Amino acid sequence: MSQNDLPGSNHCTSKGEISVIGLGPGSEEYMTEKARQALINSDVIVGYRTYVKLIDNFLSGKEVVVNGMTGEVERCKEAVRRAAAGAKVAVISSGDPGIYGMAGLMLEVLSEHPCGKEININIIPGVTAASSAASILGAPLMHDFAVISLSDRLTAWEVIAKRLEMAAEGDFVIVLYNPRSHGRPDYLNRAIEIILKYRKPTTPVGVVRNAGREEQELWIRDLDTLPDLPVDMSSTVIIGNSQTYMLNGRLVTPRGYRL
Ligand code: SAH
Repeated sequence: MSQNDLPGSNHCTSKGEISVIGLGPGSEEYMTEKARQALINSDVIVGYRTYVKLIDNFLSGKEVVVNGMTGEVERCKEAVRRAAAGAKVAVISSGDPGIYGMAGLMLEVLSEHPCGKEININIIPGVTAASSAASILGAPLMHDFAVISLSDRLTAWEVIAKRLEMAAEGDFVIVLYNPRSHGRPDYLNRAIEIILKYRKPTTPVGVVRNAGREEQELWIRDLDTLPDLPVDMSSTVIIGNSQTYMLNGRLVTPRGYRL
């Protein structure tokens, strides 16, 4: 007997649906029109508290389900329960929901539900932190780049270290998400040590904190002075490759065009 044949699961005729929405970096002007419409049309908004605060303007008349950062699985299950009961549910992530966001987990949790196949799910992309940070720093991502998260909550440090090593050796521009937290203050320094095996200490780097929000700050420095910057979990770090340089206060990685 499959899950769909179980008694009580034969009323999977819900009109509910789930939109997994990327909010972009912060302020509403960076949100796509598609994301705005999906938020406006939703009955229930599910998300981490910090992200719910970003969309204050959209909350009136909606039910908001919030829980802490470690409650991702619970949050997705709640979204499915609500959609199965007929609600239009918006599950929100900052940036792009398919990049270290909720989209993958949402698809997995939905597939486990007896009504999973009947519930429509839309994944709505957003401006990811790499794009917003790059635009603020100049144009550092004009050539091949690797995105690596330093969070070891779901990935072993050995795996992270190996990827850093490979990306550095391959001369990729490197974008670091989740670069530092109180629980692991030394990970950024460890990452820098690995990258310094392959890159000059004078390699340009950029940090953007709170991109696209009122408190936005940026720094452009060298790889060996990066440890002195106040990098935190609201920051994205971009480490140049062997070609990246400073041009009138901005970072540029040349694509290779001749002027
Ligand atoms: N889905 C998100 C990423 C979530 S992981 C996206 O696509 O952008 C969380 C990490 O993203 C943070 O630790 C930080 O490195 C980065 N980040 C998210 N929003 C940011 C912002 N406004 N400014 C700078 N970095 C940000």
